[in-house]
Amino acid sequence: MNPTGTQTDAAAGTAPTPREAALRAEREAHKLEKRLCHQVGQAIIDYHMIEEGDKVMVCVSGGKDSYGLLDILLKLQARAPIHFDLVAVNLDQKQPGFPDHILPDYLKKLGVPYHIETQDTYSIVKRVVPEGKTMCSLCSRLRRGILYRVADELGVTKIALGHHRDDMLQTFFLNMFFGGKLKAMPAKLVSDDGDHMIIRPLAYVAETDLERWAQQQAYPIIPCSLCGSQENLQRKQIGNMLREWEKQYPGRTETMLTALQNVVPSHLMDPRQHDFRGLKTTGVASVDGDKAFDAEELPLPARAPMPLAAQPGARKIAIELSPS
Ligand code: SF4
Repeated sequence: MNPTGTQTDAAAGTAPTPREAALRAEREAHKLEKRLCHQVGQAIIDYHMIEEGDKVMVCVSGGKDSYGLLDILLKLQARAPIHFDLVAVNLDQKQPGFPDHILPDYLKKLGVPYHIETQDTYSIVKRVVPEGKTMCSLCSRLRRGILYRVADELGVTKIALGHHRDDMLQTFFLNMFFGGKLKAMPAKLVSDDGDHMIIRPLAYVAETDLERWAQQQAYPIIPCSLCGSQENLQRKQIGNMLREWEKQYPGRTETMLTALQNVVPSHLMDPRQHDFRGLKTTGVASVDGDKAFDAEELPLPARAPMPLAAQPGARKIAIELSPS
């Protein structure tokens, strides 16, 4: 029943009225906004991404992820108990056909401080990379260097990137399958030049949510493939694999993200992370019983990433990982 006492579309099995459909869409949009703000806020807290007085440079490419990142950070900035500044930065790499008015127009309308850096990396990449080879790796390297310089010029204290949960998991599997490493994409890290703090506030956010949010907000999306470069095929395959898994086993992606926050070095095989050589018996029985020969008891898949601090054993893991 709806508030007027008449039967709703669901109960009656009929199509919703336009008003019902609009109300439902509004409710869904509100729920999504709440979830995005909560997940971004939680990641910021868990990894101490933003502190009082920070000036955060938000890298905006014109893609759905960075639009979403800027949007959510602005919402959080308005209600955060601490003060921090945001500045949106876009690098115009002079790809042919890049619509260079779209971002300035959008950012001006949004009222956020911004800077557009124009550097023709496209010509460099075209000149250096042989025809038919993917250009993304050199393009990203050049972009990184320029963004670090801009960060210095703008006096920012943090650089925020729009990578999300699915990017992190894709990177994890790429490294495992093709690089022989258990290594994902960190939520927070010091840049390779040692001078900048990089943060990924969308670390807990699902790509599908960002897609939905971008549609709802009608962001003026600019494709990254203007340069004509092929998307990384391996990353695409891994992305498809993750999406298929999620379809078959809903919740698996969240569980995998939780696993990245729940590392047990003593049960992996890296002697640099755990002192297997110096391992000694303690003479004290484990409260959990004998784990050496028992099959692992697996809980049901987690539905949402658990805040780090709330995870059982979080403190213990932190101690195990910290150098003694
Ligand atoms: S698709 Fe083009 S612009 Fe985007 S990262 Fe690759 S080379 Fe650079």
